[in-house]
Amino acid sequence: MADSIRILLIDDDEDDFVITRDIIMDITGRNYHLDWTSSFDEALSLIREKKHDVYLVDFFLGAHDGLELITQAVAEGATAPFILLTGQTDRETDEKAMRAGALDYLVKGTFNPYDLERSIRYSIEHAKSLAEIQSLNAQLEQRVEERTQELAEAIQKLENTNRILYEAQQEIEKALQKEKELNELKSRFVTTASHEFRTPLSTVLSSASIIARYKTTEEDQKRLKHVDRIKSAVQNLTVILNDFLSISRIEEGKVYNIPSTFNLVSFANEVVDEMQALVKDGQKIVYRHEGSEMVELDKQLLKNILINLLSNASKYSAEGKTIHLSTHVTPETSIITVQDEGIGIPAQDQTHLFTPFFRAQNATNIQGTGLGLNIVKRYVEVMDGTLDFKSELNQGTTFTITFPQTV
Ligand code: ATP
Ligand code: MG
Repeated sequence: MADSIRILLIDDDEDDFVITRDIIMDITGRNYHLDWTSSFDEALSLIREKKHDVYLVDFFLGAHDGLELITQAVAEGATAPFILLTGQTDRETDEKAMRAGALDYLVKGTFNPYDLERSIRYSIEHAKSLAEIQSLNAQLEQRVEERTQELAEAIQKLENTNRILYEAQQEIEKALQKEKELNELKSRFVTTASHEFRTPLSTVLSSASIIARYKTTEEDQKRLKHVDRIKSAVQNLTVILNDFLSISRIEEGKVYNIPSTFNLVSFANEVVDEMQALVKDGQKIVYRHEGSEMVELDKQLLKNILINLLSNASKYSAEGKTIHLSTHVTPETSIITVQDEGIGIPAQDQTHLFTPFFRAQNATNIQGTGLGLNIVKRYVEVMDGTLDFKSELNQGTTFTITFPQTV
């Protein structure tokens, strides 16, 4: 029948079953179907089947009690209402029953068909409302979860946008900084260029006018002296111009590391021979090597680096001093050092040494533009190496370059 209500009575006393059945039969106007079990475990498995609309549970169930049964059944997901049947009427039992999950309780022997019908009807209604509330709650939780998810995604997007904006800003700041440095470099270039070019140019001018005055063959010797002075001044200008060119090529990112495999010892000996011809009177370049001889480095850049360091070592040392070049190749690194016994670098100047155009206080009387070491440092960086130095005033300076060994 459509409105048949299925009741499961869980009671270990058959007399109680008979009494309850009789009371149910006396309920008018409704169709009730009563099942009965006296076993705790069978009751639980019947409840799991969810075939009943309401459970009537006796407080005493042999080794267990009705509250235990209700608690366990509710924990397992039972949704139909429980009505506890007890022997006594007191507030404590009532509260215990409620806490366990019973929707009502009836005192055995005191309830009539009307009370039972009313309790069943109210409990079923109450259980329905509870189920509805729970479903609404679940829907609400679902929506909250969806909205939270949406919000998290929106926040993620915002954070991404923020990061992109931040990175763009960093890029712009970097570009601006670079632009600023380039401008500073350019203005220092103009100052230094006009200053550095003036000396060799006035040499050229004065030597040229002197040559013009020598007309006789007897004056050939003097004429040649001035021709030599002009040559050396022009050479000087070429060196300075080449340095400027190197710096601007580095600035434009046009200096590349193109390594090749070669014998470091023969290469260094060639550079030493070339440089030995250019050092001051009595200065000697002594070369020593340790380890295997083959390396894989950019020859062009390395030659430039060595020429710069060796010419500094010579320029900032007195006549007759020794310059030591040494190379040491290990399985991990190639180490190159250039050591001199020269004027050294004042401690307070050492931090600025690689800044373009920087010249130490004790070098102002010695000709130079302050570009060499900047070029050296940038080349070493392009070659993935590191550059270090140690210097003691009036004792000497040692520059050390370390490249990772790849051969
Ligand atoms: P150039 O551009 O012609 O090389 P420079 O020699 O003055 O000019 P750098 O080679 O860059 O410029 O050196 C910068 C400064 O560092 C020098 O002016 C000098 O003060 C100091 N310096 C470099 N090498 C040595 C050295 N071996 N001993 C003492 N001081 C040095
Ligand atoms: Mg130099």
